[in-house]
Amino acid sequence: MKVIGLLGGMSWESSAEYYRVMNEEVRNRLGGLHSARILMLSVDFAVLRSHMLADRWDAVGATLAEHAKTLEKSGADMIVIGTNTMHMVAPQIEAAVSIPVLHIVDATADAVRKMGMTKVGLLGTSFTMERDFYKGRLMEHGFEVVIPEADDRATVDRVIFDELCKGLLSDESRAEYLRIIGDLTKQGAQVVILGCTEIGLLVRSGDTSVPILDTCHVHAVKAVDKAF
Ligand code: GLU
Repeated sequence: MKVIGLLGGMSWESSAEYYRVMNEEVRNRLGGLHSARILMLSVDFAVLRSHMLADRWDAVGATLAEHAKTLEKSGADMIVIGTNTMHMVAPQIEAAVSIPVLHIVDATADAVRKMGMTKVGLLGTSFTMERDFYKGRLMEHGFEVVIPEADDRATVDRVIFDELCKGLLSDESRAEYLRIIGDLTKQGAQVVILGCTEIGLLVRSGDTSVPILDTCHVHAVKAVDKAF
């Protein structure tokens, strides 16, 4: 089994999910006491968040590229960037290592394709919903992408950083998210991508009749696929 190199801590609330899903997947496939071979390098997220807010993506990229190199030197066979937003600097990370970087958008696109859907709704941080690195890549995969309107994007982003990344799950925020998911389906979305690795902690499939896709889960399973 190959070694998964996980860049974690963004936030650790979802890194814990990655760790759980990867291990569960390996146990499902091999049974017994089998578990995933994982090297995780977990950052102090506050430092990176301050770079993000200052739009210092060069600093974010340099830090994560350095950490990816450390994972490669330590024996990782692939890199998993355990966050959607930080894929903004995926090109810098890819350039720094010679092992594959499993892009979260590609893993998500494969899952949407398997569902037979062509028009997707996207929830995530403001960066993920608004900038081209994510939406553009989904469109390159052939999907039409709809996002919430500006006020709702601000709500989704605020809940991610002020609540979900701090481990706070509230019924009020869940209701807001469900309303926004409903609006995306009114815009024609056939499936809503939870394009932030913490959203699946708040909103689960049973909460809505609309199909949703948890990128944390999809990405973690893809890594296990690649490990065999
Ligand atoms: N984990 C989140 C994501 O998937 C947000 C935290 C971050 O900015 O990396 O985008």
